[in-house]
Amino acid sequence: MSTNIKQSQSTQAIHGGHSPNPVTGAIAPDISMSVNYACKWGEIGFSAEGTDIDNNVLAYQREAHPNGQLLEARLAILEGGEDAVVFASGIGAISGLLLHLLSPGDHLLFSDISYAGAAEFVRGLLKSTGVEVSVADMADIKDVESKLQPNTKIIYAETPCNPSMKLADIAALSSLSKKYKTQLVIDSTFATPVLTKPIELGADYVIHSLTKYIGGHGDALGGAVVGRKDDMQSLRLKVGIHLGATLSPFYSWLILRGLETLNIRMDAYAKNAEEIAKFLESHPFVEKVRYPGLPSHPQYELCKKQMRNGSGMIAFSVKNAEVFGKNFDTEFNIIKFATSLGQSQTLILYCDTADLQKTTFQLDSEHLEKYKEFAGDGFFRLSVGLESSDDLINDLRKALDKSLDDLMSL
Ligand SMILES: *Cc1c(COP(=O)(O)O)cnc(C)c1O
Repeated sequence: MSTNIKQSQSTQAIHGGHSPNPVTGAIAPDISMSVNYACKWGEIGFSAEGTDIDNNVLAYQREAHPNGQLLEARLAILEGGEDAVVFASGIGAISGLLLHLLSPGDHLLFSDISYAGAAEFVRGLLKSTGVEVSVADMADIKDVESKLQPNTKIIYAETPCNPSMKLADIAALSSLSKKYKTQLVIDSTFATPVLTKPIELGADYVIHSLTKYIGGHGDALGGAVVGRKDDMQSLRLKVGIHLGATLSPFYSWLILRGLETLNIRMDAYAKNAEEIAKFLESHPFVEKVRYPGLPSHPQYELCKKQMRNGSGMIAFSVKNAEVFGKNFDTEFNIIKFATSLGQSQTLILYCDTADLQKTTFQLDSEHLEKYKEFAGDGFFRLSVGLESSDDLINDLRKALDKSLDDLMSL
């Protein structure tokens, strides 16, 4: 077989980095649970640089193991990056990468709105190490440029952003980052490599919560960073030896299995989400809908340029969140009120503006006002699953209709 014909991504998601077991012929990857490996004299020893992984010798599961190595190889292929490092969770990947890249005195320019755990980490623990942190609206290039400092080392954005579904223009951020000699990190969890390839658009690092779309089944936590070879190797050493947020072989194996169907799942999520977003827009109890795949999204043009489709996440606000929320228990047959996203099951979560501001975002008045333009006092984040869109719309319609009646009688 010729290796210089570039395979399509859906083929790579199934075959990348893997061939049948040379001893047994097994086609599906084996799970290798061993914590340690028998080595030859001289192969392992005590060294701050971790000679065992440097020499590609498997020594201890916290540093490297076959299932993690296969997942890393496949993610790097799918993202078009040189190498990847997997972590015990998405937040493990974020904290590991930022602790790796930033030293006391460096400045991090972070997204004003982001995954809550990441926002809390950079404003808390990371700052306490002496790293300067400030935020910008990553959808507004002028705001980003105005917040850059001579010591800015990293620009960090999510696109689409959790939970408000704003997009960041990766190519534009990358030009800015190159001009000011900083590095660009993109959390691409909501897009996956099926919708967007941040490295091709100029990003230096891509982050994923593998717990979400890539794993796809809500049964395994994981995270990943994709980047340049040398850098990924030193990140791997640091994580494996000093931070310890290693992904287990079993979770690696589950996530690899999820990855095999990522391409067809991402198209199915988007098809459902588009129908549901249109339905929500038509319902009188719904106030605003933000879905990147609909022309009503303020960055619809950017979505068409940067994403294969609108993904499976929708943000929407209603006339009265309390009234709607109280109807979940009785009116929803399928949809679950739950955290997390990107799995087969449809999940809904409420994002209360005052709570998030207090515990997580702590925005200055300028960025808080901007956030409230869409969010108001709060909105719902819907992670559309793979169930039939008719059944999902039926759940939503029942709860929304009932809420409209309840509102009349208040
Ligand atoms: C969930 C999430 C994370 C954190 O991932 P975990 O696997 O839950 O630690 C990071 N970024 C985004 C965009 C997320 O949605």
